Amino acid sequence: MPGRRADGSRPTPAERGRARAILNRLKRRYPEIHTALRYRDPWQLLVATVLSAQTTDENVNRVTPTLFRRYPTPAALAAADPAEVEELIYSTGYYRQKARSIIALSQDLVARCGGEVPDDIDELVKLHGVGRKTASVVLAEAFGQPAIAVDTHVKRVTNRLGLTTNTDPVKIEQDLKALFPTSEWGGLSMRLIQFGRDVCTARSPRCGDCELVDLCPWPDKRP
Ligand code: SF4
Repeated sequence: MPGRRADGSRPTPAERGRARAILNRLKRRYPEIHTALRYRDPWQLLVATVLSAQTTDENVNRVTPTLFRRYPTPAALAAADPAEVEELIYSTGYYRQKARSIIALSQDLVARCGGEVPDDIDELVKLHGVGRKTASVVLAEAFGQPAIAVDTHVKRVTNRLGLTTNTDPVKIEQDLKALFPTSEWGGLSMRLIQFGRDVCTARSPRCGDCELVDLCPWPDKRP
């Protein structure tokens, strides 16, 4: 039995069929997909995801090897000198705020969870600076659990494709969970994020090259 959307309704078989067709085409474009962030364990992915705000994954991948060599565990980063961390992550932007965040996150992790990243969304979002999106990325990628991360790309692409009419990320997540089978959740959000970067971009969507054009009801589609 399909789950309920944010408004309490259940998707019809036709709506689920259209969602499946969209996912199948996205799978053809991106047969295998994972985060481009490099990491060795859930804590490293958590830190890398916090650092990826307002910058590219490539920029994060340039600084994290040195960062994790210098601070190899949550306990080490929890005790770090903020100025030293700022220097290491400077090129990712917002470096003061991000340094404070990843230190506080590591302190929280040590104090609350003995340094182990929990594989539970309700526990993850209690950690300093960890929102639902970051928690979902870590659950899906590092733990292989069903989770849908809703970022700006997912929000834009799913609204254009008529998979949701909501703008609140929590409601979008619920709408998508009602439409797609649990086993597809993690891959779905990674594919939507990449598709939003490559094709259905914010300013100039490439509708003429888009394999979803016949399934897309967006009235501002470009030929
Ligand atoms: S047709 Fe255009 S707006 Fe619709 S999904 Fe494709 S790129 Fe996005």
